[in-house]
Amino acid sequence: MGVLVCFHAHPDDEVFTTGGVMRLAADAGHRVVLVVATDGAAGEHPEGLLAPGESLADRRLHELERSAEALGVSRLVPFGYRDSGMAGTPGNDHPDAFANTDVDVVAKRLAEIIDDERADSVTIYDPNGGYGHPDHVQVHRVGARAAESTGHDAVYESAMNRDHLARLLAANPDVTAEAGPPDLDSFGLSEAELTTAVDVTAAIDAKVAAMRAHESQIGDFGPMLAMTPEQLGAAFGIEWFRRRGVPPGVHESMLRL
Ligand SMILES: [Zn+2]
Repeated sequence: MGVLVCFHAHPDDEVFTTGGVMRLAADAGHRVVLVVATDGAAGEHPEGLLAPGESLADRRLHELERSAEALGVSRLVPFGYRDSGMAGTPGNDHPDAFANTDVDVVAKRLAEIIDDERADSVTIYDPNGGYGHPDHVQVHRVGARAAESTGHDAVYESAMNRDHLARLLAANPDVTAEAGPPDLDSFGLSEAELTTAVDVTAAIDAKVAAMRAHESQIGDFGPMLAMTPEQLGAAFGIEWFRRRGVPPGVHESMLRL
């Protein structure tokens, strides 16, 4: 049995970039550990969703537990740091915000989990955290520091494939018709920088179930739930990574487990 440890910024981030590898690893009999840095309390949510006395952090923890179950997680570790909010929002400056935490302190917590679990593979984020969210960038910093301190040699930066995204958008011009084309240079990594592409088509149903579990955030990704199976497969059927310390060029089709 192998052990996969996935480190993420917010409740719901686990679904999109590593949900498939988690589900496939669990189905193959491996142990999957999910560590989530923040409580997600800066997320938007529909008015009237919360019960009296319920906080968004409470609700999102509950959603995260259900998502983790759908993805085959054996152990969920919510670190519970304060959500810093989107780049440029006032929450970025809060001293307790995850983005402002001492990297060494958080890296020590993560390193203890990696060591205790005898992790075979660890996933973190690429240096820009996909799209520059301060908490995602901090996941990279903390993950990289934990990787260094543990000497772990199978640490994968999960990353959107910028070229794949460009091809998807070119094939679906109606998606960008209203908002205009996004600035893809700031998204993920180029295909040439990646090392690992995992076909997770077999786990798409589990990814959709995990998306649905994050009910409070469906305003963000509702349109994805309306996609046809073909569209879902094209958008979420491959998960991409850059393994640290390995020369670029896609040459692995699974994480080391
Ligand atoms: Zn996030």
